[in-house]
Amino acid sequence: MNVFDYLVVGAGFAGSVLAERLAADAGKRVLVVDKRAHIGGNAFDEYDDAGLLIHRYGPHIFHTNSKEVFNYLSRFTEWRPYEHRVLGSVDGQLVPIPINLDTVNQLYGLRLTSFELEAFFASVAEPKERVLTSEDVVVSKVGRELFDKFFRGYTRKQWDLDPSELDASVTARVPTRTNRDDRYFTDTYQAMPARGYTRLFEKMLAHPNIKVMLNTDYREVQGLIPYRDLIYTGPIDAFFDYRFGRLPYRSLEFRHETHQQTSYQPTGTVNYPNEHLYTRITEFKYLTGQEHPKTSIVYEYPRAEGDPYYPIPRPENAELYRRYKALAEAEEGVHFVGRLATYRYYNMDQVVAQALTTYAKLSGAKVTKPSGARGLALSGESG
Ligand code: FAD
Ligand code: UDP
Repeated sequence: MNVFDYLVVGAGFAGSVLAERLAADAGKRVLVVDKRAHIGGNAFDEYDDAGLLIHRYGPHIFHTNSKEVFNYLSRFTEWRPYEHRVLGSVDGQLVPIPINLDTVNQLYGLRLTSFELEAFFASVAEPKERVLTSEDVVVSKVGRELFDKFFRGYTRKQWDLDPSELDASVTARVPTRTNRDDRYFTDTYQAMPARGYTRLFEKMLAHPNIKVMLNTDYREVQGLIPYRDLIYTGPIDAFFDYRFGRLPYRSLEFRHETHQQTSYQPTGTVNYPNEHLYTRITEFKYLTGQEHPKTSIVYEYPRAEGDPYYPIPRPENAELYRRYKALAEAEEGVHFVGRLATYRYYNMDQVVAQALTTYAKLSGAKVTKPSGARGLALSGESG
């Protein structure tokens, strides 16, 4: 009887939310394995040697419009309100990004009103019949010059692709404004877990029905530990041994530094679209609110090789993903969830929502397929 109901591969948001729901709501026995030495996936944070809370895998800022997601996570953490602000280093100045009224006025030494800025954008914008690429999105709103200053170089560095080769959804993440709002995000809920992400994950996984095994690739234990169903949150192409070839993921190298001064830069993140090999520098104290005589920062250097961090949204990759997805759908008793397993450029809240939806489907499916369907008995009756 000592069988796990679920083997969950990956202790990031996707795996942890599903483990928590399956254990706490459905009374299932869950084994979570992660090949890394820690829980939390890419959202993992830790105290560095100087005692500063840092994000090992780059800055993670929580924001969502979903009350459901926010309320769900609030069971595991208190929050510190935080609205992220970013400056871009352009033409020797630090100006707000997303591009807003102050960006244009500062950059060109103007004193436009919002109304006048709208007219300015209309005069330089290059309307597109169909907005397909990451170039179209920006050029059709603010014209080529601002596109070149803020987006072309950054995107080429980040993706090693020209914006014209990337889906519109990538640069569409960054809006354009004619007012003075200089927040990076405008979501209803913007806050950081008060004691960090790792604490949040610890609470989420601290259920007696959940066992966590770190430093373990699931393939090492798959044949040794009996389980009924698998929840997989790693890269989907790896699951199928790259049968159709590799799905491209973009990687980053993080260079962490601690400085002997209370503050390093004027805001949480400074973007460098046109100079340096890194894309941005983030100073963690802005995000965490920590008071400390020193400060820790991280540089992000885009890389082709390394841990898979970003799916690369473009048509040929979507096509390859569809082939893997067809295999995934045919795989009985295996559920693919999360940014890597569903090849989606998802933020944390979207991954949480996807995991909650998957859980709802798993538990709901029990009603429609009460018997015989593998892994769908979620009420806890199987003990
Ligand atoms: P992951 O966190 O990647 O977890 C997957 C886990 O599976 C990993 O821990 C991995 O070790 C494990 N795994 C993989 N293969 C195996 C295997 N074979 N065996 C065992 N374990 C395995 N989102 C935001 O909302 N706000 C932000 O500010 C933000 N900033 C980001 C900055 C960067 C640099 C990056 C890369 C991402 C950022 N994100 C941000 C996105 C966020 O990281 C993801 O949405 C979220 O962490 C994805 O969770 P996940 O569980 O799908 O994947
Ligand atoms: N981007 C850009 N210049 C910027 C900020 C963003 O060109 O100053 C583009 C770039 O292609 C980037 C994308 O917009 O990859 C999305 O930016 P975001 O800050 O959301 O990236 P993430 O935090 O996910 O790495």
